[in-house]
Amino acid sequence: MLSRKCVMSASRGFWVKPLGHLVVLSSLCCFISGYSERNRTEDLMSKYPVIDGHNDLALQLRILHNNRLSQVDLHNISKVATDINRLQAGHVQAQMFAVYVLCGAQEKDAVRLTLEQIDVVIRMCTEYKDFELVTSAEELRDSERRHKIACLISVEGGHSIDSSLPTLRMFYQLGVRSMTLTHSCNTPWAESSSKLYHVYQRHNNSLTHFGKAVVEEMNRLGMLVDLSHTSWDTAWAALRHSRAPVIFSHSSSFSICNHGRNVPDLLLLDLKKKHGLIMVNFHSNFISCSDVANISRVADHFDHIKKVIGAESIGIGGDFEGAVRFPQGLEDVSKYPALIQELLHRNWTENELANVLRNNFLRVFEEVERVRDHLSMKRPSEVQIPLEEVHNPCRLVLRPPRPRGPSIRSVSSTAQHKTKGPLIPVMALLISSLVFIA
Ligand SMILES: [Zn+2]
Repeated sequence: MLSRKCVMSASRGFWVKPLGHLVVLSSLCCFISGYSERNRTEDLMSKYPVIDGHNDLALQLRILHNNRLSQVDLHNISKVATDINRLQAGHVQAQMFAVYVLCGAQEKDAVRLTLEQIDVVIRMCTEYKDFELVTSAEELRDSERRHKIACLISVEGGHSIDSSLPTLRMFYQLGVRSMTLTHSCNTPWAESSSKLYHVYQRHNNSLTHFGKAVVEEMNRLGMLVDLSHTSWDTAWAALRHSRAPVIFSHSSSFSICNHGRNVPDLLLLDLKKKHGLIMVNFHSNFISCSDVANISRVADHFDHIKKVIGAESIGIGGDFEGAVRFPQGLEDVSKYPALIQELLHRNWTENELANVLRNNFLRVFEEVERVRDHLSMKRPSEVQIPLEEVHNPCRLVLRPPRPRGPSIRSVSSTAQHKTKGPLIPVMALLISSLVFIA
């Protein structure tokens, strides 16, 4: 599309035939100049504002302010790369906000900490009128019509559910619509791409029986199964097992940068077969496999993934506030237009970019909701993880009531923590400790 300035100069020239060559030259200059591409980018992103797959602002609120929202003005936060003013400048209309707790909280107070992170996202997205908490594709579309920034909540790391499907369901009730199956640690039921934590190592590294039950329950609830951070084995198993499309909310191409957090072409091909989505991560170390990167290198990831599986399977998952190093020119959430301009310059069509910016995500979200509707007659799963598969000293084991009478001494107990008298329902025992890694 020609910018208005170019069209005017072209139409003026149309009536002055001797200047025909100059007109063609002028139009060509407009096409290839930064001015034209900037205008095209602005027009395009005004019409198709960004839905971004991953942002860790909630983690930064925890680290910098211990979740005291009253200490910050979310319109303008100098210490981070994300605030409302810059989201608006970057044409970001929807953001999946991660609720993430450190892997060190696994087997401790991961559930409490996750609840606190959900609380802070709900607070920021309800106390600021520029934000709007959404829980469905329809609400997401409506929020765009109301010129709001939609907030989606995503649990980052399966350790947050403490191997409990009821906990997963309660997160859903609180508005969570996506979960990565792991973060940097294995869970008792899924494997991480990272070897940072030596926990829950197994011979079968894909998904356990309980892991498959987690995926099934997410399908039934209508939660997006997110495979960023999982090992490839786990990703393949989840792809095979999920009835709904899955996503990588913040991962890039392994062929361009062979980092374990990125996705190899074979896995991309399976993702495409499942109508899924990879939302490209901007973290310099995933983009160029070094601390330094530029926008051109980010665009190389987009070009490669498009070549392998087409533009209809690509989105954007910037990973601001989670990652620490960003490419030159993509340092904060106001800079998305620079990337779109680069892709326009590389001859991506406006239709392809409209899909990358938002339509692909909406399609996947709606398909996940259709699968949920299709499974609406299915009852909540009562699958429980076998006790021998978790090594959690904080997990109380409830036992059946002891029979009364003399035989009581002969009853053997399977409890790890013995209680006296009749059964007392116990909800959870969580150790209150939190260690931050800066
Ligand atoms: Zn992450």
